[in-house]
Amino acid sequence: MAIAAHTGIGTLPILYFGTEEQKQKYIPKLITGEWAGAYGLTEPNAGSDALSSKTTAKLSEDGKHYILNGQKCWITNGGFAQVYTVFAKVDGDKFTGFIVERGTEGFTNGPEEQKMGIKGSSTVQLYFQDAKVPVENVLGEIGKGHKIAFNILNIGRLKLCAAALGGAKMAFETSVQYAKTREQFKQPIANFGAIKHKIAEMAIRIFAAESALYRTAKWIDEWEKKLLEEGKPFNESLLGAAEEYAIECAMLKVYGSELLDFVADEGVQIHGGNGFSAEYNISRAYRDSRINRIYEGTNEINRLLTLDMTLKRAMQGRLNLMGPAMEVQKELMSIPDFGEDDETPFTAERKLIANFKKAILMVSGLRYKN
Ligand SMILES: Cc1cc2nc3c(=O)[nH]c(=O)nc-3n(C[C@H](O)[C@H](O)[C@H](O)COP(=O)(O)OP(=O)(O)OC[C@H]3O[C@@H](n4cnc5c(N)ncnc54)[C@H](O)[C@@H]3O)c2cc1C
Repeated sequence: MAIAAHTGIGTLPILYFGTEEQKQKYIPKLITGEWAGAYGLTEPNAGSDALSSKTTAKLSEDGKHYILNGQKCWITNGGFAQVYTVFAKVDGDKFTGFIVERGTEGFTNGPEEQKMGIKGSSTVQLYFQDAKVPVENVLGEIGKGHKIAFNILNIGRLKLCAAALGGAKMAFETSVQYAKTREQFKQPIANFGAIKHKIAEMAIRIFAAESALYRTAKWIDEWEKKLLEEGKPFNESLLGAAEEYAIECAMLKVYGSELLDFVADEGVQIHGGNGFSAEYNISRAYRDSRINRIYEGTNEINRLLTLDMTLKRAMQGRLNLMGPAMEVQKELMSIPDFGEDDETPFTAERKLIANFKKAILMVSGLRYKN
């Protein structure tokens, strides 16, 4: 958690949106780990609806500082970071990013939250009481903070899936090991069909997540390369590539976090009573996994985003959704074509996927029309 937040939301906003001076000042120390980074977006009354934030920034009379007032909550690494990317509204309405250093006058943090899991991760509130942030610490453009906030989350979602996948593999291995050594009815419990089924389901979902993750990562790499070749600078190329695959990133976030919850839950079940004991690692995996469905945009929000972004692209003509959706409707009205028997590998699977796609097209076509 500490490393993921530091290298991701704690460092990337400055790397991608910072001026040359800001990068020179902060990035070398963040990269070596001399300084730790954190990211303050969420507020007590602005969670999923992050843009409804109440933290304000007002230019000082001498024009040298922005004076920040407000509060942030649930800030990972907040208890020990030196550098924070914080969002506040200039003059109460222009949502803007700021780089805030520990030690800034008027800026403090609260005590560590008592959490259900990820207890090794620092999570605190941040307080701004007439905090004096130098004008040169404005990150990106005034009023364009949403660009930073949302673009950074695309990459965060892909990374969350990777982290969840790693956790799922650990929980999986621990559970398989346990199933092979724990004996009941004079044999290892791994011999029982019910346990084999759990292990198989875990392995299938891990494989699916890993495949989807690497496939998307490859697409992002290729798109980034294309943008670089077109002459786009480094930051715009990576951000543009992550934006191009923002839908996939949202889906991976949902799938990865639910995969980890599933594996941790079944892992506890395989461990029986021991799975409920704090002495066994699997009980920690169960508690630690739960947060992944909540941060980096809750899974409800990411599900909504998946659909909304798809429909938006269709409206913009970037995605031909309407044509295939009409085809499906036409197909449903006509006599079905049962097709020839096809003996090639994966025929049944290919047919299933094609039909899933048709069902989705049908439903989105209806929403699109309305
Ligand atoms: C351990 C931890 C670490 C965190 N680290 C950071 C950090 O480093 N920096 C940071 O800025 N934030 C951080 N967060 C905050 C996190 O991103 C938010 O908790 C998250 O975005 C959800 O906001 P919320 O808690 O206010 O829930 P709410 O937004 O109040 O949501 C409550 C419920 O309502 C649902 N909901 C809300 N809106 C809709 C909608 N339109 N449609 C359907 N359902 C909806 C949600 O999905 C959820 O189930 C962290 C949180 C935790 C717990």
